Amino acid sequence: MKCPICGREFDLNAPDTAMPFCSIRCKQIDLKRWLDEEYTYFSDKPEEDQQTAEGFKTDENH
Ligand SMILES: [Zn+2]
Repeated sequence: MKCPICGREFDLNAPDTAMPFCSIRCKQIDLKRWLDEEYTYFSDKPEEDQQTAEGFKTDENH
């Protein structure tokens, strides 16, 4: 199974998985990403959040 957040392959039977993410940490990252998008709607900013999300993902994986 491949984690949609960090892209890491992980074992479905691992004790610290948080489906469909490899860990609770990645699950929280996904949740935070959703919240950030909501903030983007409220502040009515142009769509630059795509690249920000990519940079964030790379940082977490580092
Ligand atoms: Zn992950």
